[in-house]
Amino acid sequence: MQRSSGRFSGRRWAKPEMRRTSEMASIEFRHLSKNVRDLIAPFLSQKPVPLGALARSLGLRVKVAPLDRGVSGSIRKAEDGVYEIRVNKFETRSRQRFTIAHEISHFLLHKSIIDEQDGIKDNILLRSGLPQKIEYEANRLAADLIMPDDFIERDARRYFSDGAITEEVVEQLSDEWGVSKAAMEIKLGNFVAG
Ligand SMILES: [Zn+2]
Repeated sequence: MQRSSGRFSGRRWAKPEMRRTSEMASIEFRHLSKNVRDLIAPFLSQKPVPLGALARSLGLRVKVAPLDRGVSGSIRKAEDGVYEIRVNKFETRSRQRFTIAHEISHFLLHKSIIDEQDGIKDNILLRSGLPQKIEYEANRLAADLIMPDDFIERDARRYFSDGAITEEVVEQLSDEWGVSKAAMEIKLGNFVAG
């Protein structure tokens, strides 16, 4: 009997209609400057994406620290002038990774806000008190940084050459890319029809 608990049960790749990956990346990703895209491209071809190295290439410092309960991460300009990301050491690795990608995205998209506000601090829902639009932007870019579309698509096709997306696929890919199952489900949802 087929498992029926998953969001993707019974859904299949719609091969003829599959969207091209160049159309898949978020508007935030597509609007990054060519310089930035060239700089981060080599990191996006590695699995899982080495976020620490990616952050360093942008001049950022990342610290895993015991943050207050309910705080997932923050970014601010430190005394030495370096932008510093802090991520809560008490959260799971996949959560920490998404949080780091979210803070990197704030840096790439919202640097002036970081400066004006003396930093951004995100709670467990990755909300900071800034307008929700700002957080959606950071989340969309974060997803593109930790789950680069063309590589996810290639993997998904490789594992599921018969076209079926199952719970096992989601689990396998989320493990390999170091992301939560929920994040991978949302990403895979971009590739399937219906
Ligand atoms: Zn945020």
